[in-house]
Amino acid sequence: MVNVFENAIGMVERTADLLDFERRFKGMQIIERMRIPDKTIEFRATVQLDNGPLKVFHCYRIQHSDVLGPYKGGIRFHTDVDIDEVKALALWMTMKTALVELPYGGSKGGITVNPKTLTVTELERLVRKYVFRLVNDIGPNIDIPAPDMGTGAREMAWIFDEYRKHRDAAQGVVTGKPIELGGSLGRMEATGRGVVCAMLEAAKNMGLRDYTAAVQGFGNVGMHAALDLHQRGIKVVGVGDITGSVYSAQGIDIPGLVLHQKKTGRLEGFPGADPMEDVVTCKCDVLLPCARENTILADNAEFVQAKLIAEGANGPTTPEADAILEKKGVVVVPDILANAGGVIVSYFEWVQNREGFYWEEEDVNARLFARLRKAYARVKDMAGRRRISLRQAAYCIAMERIVQAMIARGVQ
Ligand code: GLU
Repeated sequence: MVNVFENAIGMVERTADLLDFERRFKGMQIIERMRIPDKTIEFRATVQLDNGPLKVFHCYRIQHSDVLGPYKGGIRFHTDVDIDEVKALALWMTMKTALVELPYGGSKGGITVNPKTLTVTELERLVRKYVFRLVNDIGPNIDIPAPDMGTGAREMAWIFDEYRKHRDAAQGVVTGKPIELGGSLGRMEATGRGVVCAMLEAAKNMGLRDYTAAVQGFGNVGMHAALDLHQRGIKVVGVGDITGSVYSAQGIDIPGLVLHQKKTGRLEGFPGADPMEDVVTCKCDVLLPCARENTILADNAEFVQAKLIAEGANGPTTPEADAILEKKGVVVVPDILANAGGVIVSYFEWVQNREGFYWEEEDVNARLFARLRKAYARVKDMAGRRRISLRQAAYCIAMERIVQAMIARGVQ
């Protein structure tokens, strides 16, 4: 079994070795301070179901590090949510915000639940109970939740509303809100757009031309990434999600696929595209894994045909798979860079909430792309100078920033 947190911390340990932390920061306990989160909150939420009985849920909020600012990270609703997954996701948030220079630390929350098995009223009760229990631990200057897998603007609205029952109204307590409640234009599409932006930078660098793309995952990230590719005239030949995968060498009509998926709940059966086995190994030049962690593994990495991968999901590639891809010469734009668009626009939302002045969508996108391109350029430059992978370079930049802040702050 792959332990997702051990994989995540392993990357931090390799980075510390490479940057010679043991010698440079003797006695500072950098690895221990990254391994053990600042605070782990694990609790129960009991909810009354619409037809009478009670149901008990396992809930988490892990505040990994606030060395660079208030904790920031989404809330995941999924049956596979457990402490190790939330810890890994929180650690990745710390890395991501440091890499793209946001004034935040990292955290993550989750509830072990399949939201599709609850009614809307039951879900609302669950979200409100979750916030009620965390009311002292979250806040616009403490810890700012956002959407992740299984949650969206609707849940963020309930979080905001529940929080303001107990504390001063503060819109910046949560990001990813509906526009009417202080959400930012472009937040919903931001992660998908960001993945495409990072991919375009890498493709340009590699001199790729007339390339085709495949997208794994058709949720908020994968769907918006696929739509963005389609709009840019880049042929999306493969799309897959948990229900199945489809392929068309001529390119798939993505807006049509979105409608088909909304109507039928699946991708297969879409006219003009054939069912296929696994989108990860399909014939394409660029692959965007936008589903979840551990989808590119030692057994399928061997058969990846893409020359470039941009990770929309958090942790889609295991360390073993990463080594195989590197050997094959596949360029991987790592998750903490490629999917940072979501938290970047979350930051813009928080800034807009504080100012009470709201930006046009073009301004949001322009600032998003500028920030991502700058981060990409720094990562690319570091990778070239040290002859290391983009992932390793991204971790070097993030860790260096975190450690400098730790030292400046003293013993926390
Ligand atoms: N859940 C998203 C992520 O993994 C967004 C987090 C945020 O906007 O704070 O990056």
